[in-house]
Parts: sequence; C-alpha cells; structure tokens
Amino acid sequence: MRPLAEAQAAVLDAVETLPVQSATLREARGLVLAEDVVASHDVPPFANSAMDGYAVRAEDVVAAPTSLRVLEDIPAGSVPTRSVQPATAIKIMTGAPLPAGADAVVKVEDTDAGSAIVEIREAAPVGTAVRLAGGDIAAGTTVLTAGTRLGAAHLGVLASVGVAFPKVTRRPTVAIMSTGDEVVPPETEVLELGKIRDTNRPTLQAALEDFGAVVVDYGIVPDDAEALNRTLGQASRNADVVVTSGGVSMGEYDLVKQELAALGTVEFWKVAMQPAKPFAFGSLGGTPLFGLPGNPVSVFVAFEQFLRPALLHMMGSTALFRSRVIGVADEDFATDPAKSVFVRAAVARDGDRLLVTKSGGQQSNVLTALALADAFAVVPVGVGTISAGDTVELELFRAPETRSREEALNA
Ligand code: AMP
Ligand code: MG
Repeated sequence: MRPLAEAQAAVLDAVETLPVQSATLREARGLVLAEDVVASHDVPPFANSAMDGYAVRAEDVVAAPTSLRVLEDIPAGSVPTRSVQPATAIKIMTGAPLPAGADAVVKVEDTDAGSAIVEIREAAPVGTAVRLAGGDIAAGTTVLTAGTRLGAAHLGVLASVGVAFPKVTRRPTVAIMSTGDEVVPPETEVLELGKIRDTNRPTLQAALEDFGAVVVDYGIVPDDAEALNRTLGQASRNADVVVTSGGVSMGEYDLVKQELAALGTVEFWKVAMQPAKPFAFGSLGGTPLFGLPGNPVSVFVAFEQFLRPALLHMMGSTALFRSRVIGVADEDFATDPAKSVFVRAAVARDGDRLLVTKSGGQQSNVLTALALADAFAVVPVGVGTISAGDTVELELFRAPETRSREEALNA
C-alpha cells in the first residue's frame, strides 16, 4: 500500500501542464491564467466623482451654507468643458471626470440641487467623494499572476485593464467510463436482481464539469477484457485523462488493472487511505489513467484527493489542494490508524467553533452520507481515534446555502 502523500506525489509527477491558448473572458471562467497581467493604464483611468453632486473647490465651501454659481452639468460618459473657478461649481454625476480646478464633490443630498445657483449646506474637505486616477490599480502594477484560477472577480479585473483575451491553459478533456456487468444505466426502469444503477458516471460528470473539464462519456463497459481493452485504447487516444470506476480490487473480474498493464503501465494500485484504497494509477501510451474504485463514496474521495489536484496541475494552477480549517469533534470517530481516513462530516457553527459530526454511515457504498456532508474530517495515519472535544482538520468541499430567509434576515 502506498502512503497517500507518496501516491499523490507520483500522480502529480506523471501529469503535465496542457498547452496555453487565448480565450475570451467568458471562455476563461474557471481556467488558469498563464501569464502575469500588468496594467497598461490606471484604473480608474481618470479622477472622477464617487457621488452625484457638485464638483467644488473645498476652500469655497468651508463656510457652508454658501451659494455657488453652477457652470455646467456633466453626466457620466461626458467630459467637462469648463474648469471650476472661485465661487463656482459644476454639477457632476457618479463616474464623470472631475473638472479641472475642483478638489472635492458635495453630494446632492447636502445641497438644494439648484441648476443655475446651488446652495451648499455642508463643507467638503479636499478629496471628498473624489476617486483618484489609479486609486484601484496604478499603471504598471501586476494585477494578477500566472497560476491564478479565474473566477468572477478576476475576470472583472482583466476587463478593467483591457485584457479581453487572456492567455490561459486549455481545458482538459476527460474520458469517463463505468465498469461492471452489474451496472445498468440510471434510467433503467425495472432493476433485475443483481443489477444496480450506475451512480458513478453522473457523480463524476458533475464533479468534472463543475471543475471546468470537458467530459467524454464512454458509458458502461462490461467485465470483458476485450471490450475493456478496446474502450480504454479509444478513450486514451481521444482524451487528456481517462477515468474508470470499478474493476480495480482483488476479484476475478477486476479487469481494469489487467488491461491497463496490457496496454500501458501500472504505477500503483493500492493506497493507504479509507475510503478509496483500491485505486489504480498508470499510463496508457502517455495518457494518465485514474482507475477509481467502484464504490460511489470512494469515487468521490479519489476524485477529490487525486483527480482534482492533478487536473489543477494540468490546468496550470500553482495551488492544487483544498484549504483546510480546524473543527472540533462533537462525537468520537474510530478510524483505522494504518490509513489516512476521510470521514464524511457535517459541520455546524457553534459561536466561533466548527462542530463536526459524522454525516451518516461511513461504509464506502453509503452515498447518502456524502450527499449530507459538508467536509471531510481528515484523520492522518497513526491517529486512529478522535474523541469528542478533540480538534480535527476539515477539508470543506462545499459551502451550500444553509440559512433560510427567516434565519438570515430576522436575526
Ligand atoms: P468493483 O471494484 O468493481 O468490485 O466494485 C466495487 C463495488 O462498487 C461493487 O459493489 C460494485 O457493484 C459497485 N459499483 C461499481 N461500479 C459502480 C457504479 N458505476 N455505480 C454504482 N456502484 C458501482
Ligand atoms: Mg466491478
């Protein structure tokens, strides 16, 4: 059995970063920036008003209330044609360029909103309601660095500096297949004795697409060496990564390992972890193969611990593993000290602590406990028992909406 960290390192050593291409901002969502982005101009590009109001000379309004002559009106998008002179003001809208001569903006609420003459009711020290050029980003600043995975705010930053076609590492194409003579499509209406519905492909497909991968679905492959050999060969030629489920444990019909060895190389196939101990990793003519176990919870754990970091590495990300936070066990957890154990856990807030309980049965076929889980409570090798009150590391894998309207708004 490989220690988990060794197995993860071997996987990362075996996968390569994909080629770089230009993408539109829409296409770039979830992809990883492949170059540092330096702002070629200030953001905001010009000094402008943070309020609807009147651009003034601060010294003219020290003695408010006072009246000033209004020279003109500048809506957003327009350019001032006059400069503010002593005892004058220019009406200005949020985002419009600050006229020369002005050094403060008095918000409209602090005036009588006059057109020819305005009464200023409050003083406005120098800089009031003025957004300076470069106040967010100064020209020449590196705003985002290579390796950043682009989310909503990053895409906005790129747009603000005019980088509409960023260089990103391309999306990985991932071939998926389920294996097993007992596995039938989820839409099967009547289950015959001995058959089960394929839960792994929908889970993997969703996890991979959430992640930004392009999924190619090779369906369900029977426990037949020839069929498996053919499908694995085809998948490895058409995808960057091949992911199978089932057929990697000790049984007579566990053929994935065997066919991987026939077509390519097996790097390892047992990891000291729970769940997902039977996990085969290898190469099919240069295409990495992730032979996930058959049990649905193991599939998800293996996805999280092996595929996610590997795909992030392929996508050019520098950060590969989920952040961990500290929780407090609210019950005892008895785990196998010989393995890295990923307890499916429900996390609840208690003041400033995160309380951790098992979200259900911990057998690797109990997918409902995974559906109810917020996190893995990670119990390292050598620990075994966690007692109520002990701290435990949490890998939060979803942050769902948990507060109802009443809870959130009537507090
Ligand atoms: P295996 O490693 O192929 O023996 O599979 C281990 C367990 O996972 C068995 O109980 C299988 O029936 C089950 N299993 C395998 N593939 C799937 C699948 N696609 N969906 C649901 N359960 C599966
Ligand atoms: Mg099987």
